[in-house]
Order: sequence, then C-alpha cells, then structure tokens
Amino acid sequence: MKVLDLRCANDHAFEGWFASEDDFQGQCVRGLLQCPVCGDTQVRKMLSAPRIQRGAAAERSAPAQAPVPVSGAASPPASSRGALPAALQAAWLQWARQAATQSEDVGERFAQEARNIHRGDSPERAIRGQASAAQALELLEEGIPVLALPATVTDTLH
Ligand SMILES: [Zn+2]
Repeated sequence: MKVLDLRCANDHAFEGWFASEDDFQGQCVRGLLQCPVCGDTQVRKMLSAPRIQRGAAAERSAPAQAPVPVSGAASPPASSRGALPAALQAAWLQWARQAATQSEDVGERFAQEARNIHRGDSPERAIRGQASAAQALELLEEGIPVLALPATVTDTLH
C-alpha cells in the first residue's frame, strides 16, 4: 500500500491511498483523482518517500482501525467547486467532517459493505467505518476507492 501526498493545481494538499505506484498513475491518467477541497483533477504527487511504507508498518505495529469511507464521500459538494478558502487545511477537515457526518456508519462491516455497494448488491451511498490497512489494500486492489480520514475527524462524531 502506498500513501501518497498529493497536490492539486490550486495547491491543496491531501493524501491518497493506492495499491501501487501503477495504481496511482492509472487513476491519474484516467482523471479519477480529484482534489477533495476544490474537485480539481490536475493532481500531482509530492515527494514523500519516507511515508510510502506506512501502511505496512502500521499493520505490523498495531492492528490499526483506519476509518475509511468509500469514494462516494470523497467528492466535495459541487457548491464548493471554485471556492478557495485561505485556511485550506481547516477547509479540508471541515469537508471531511461533513462527509463523515453525511455517510452511514457501518462500523466493522465496512469492507463487506463497500464490496456490496461496488457490486451493486447494496444501494449506492457514502459509508464510513473501520477497516484494517490490509482490508483497505484489498479494496483498492479490487478497484474500490477508499479514503482514510484523520482520527480527529471521526472521533468528533461519537
Ligand atoms: Zn484543490
């Protein structure tokens, strides 16, 4: 699993999880990557080599509960397009909080439910929940986009 620091053409920094470097390149080429703040698709990768193996490391040291909503929650509301707040980090956190609030909490059923939605077995909607780094990687490899939210965001929901 690769955790990449990404940046859009408007200089918003955000994080993306990918199964591999090729996965990132593929999504980038197909225009599937989108800035969560402004929706820009001109996403480029920042150099962040020390963090690339973080997923694997986290898996070893702790069976981490990464809160990972599917990409249904990963696109910013259309109304935020074009808006460029000065406090971008705050804006991103606010958006993430909002996305998390508007998603359905499926808890530890997250990985299963994400697959069901992906296959069309469950109604399409934004969900959030817990998944291990391994589960998130499996979803990514199956082509199901997931997004990790900072714990500070999801903690405020309880
Ligand atoms: Zn942006």
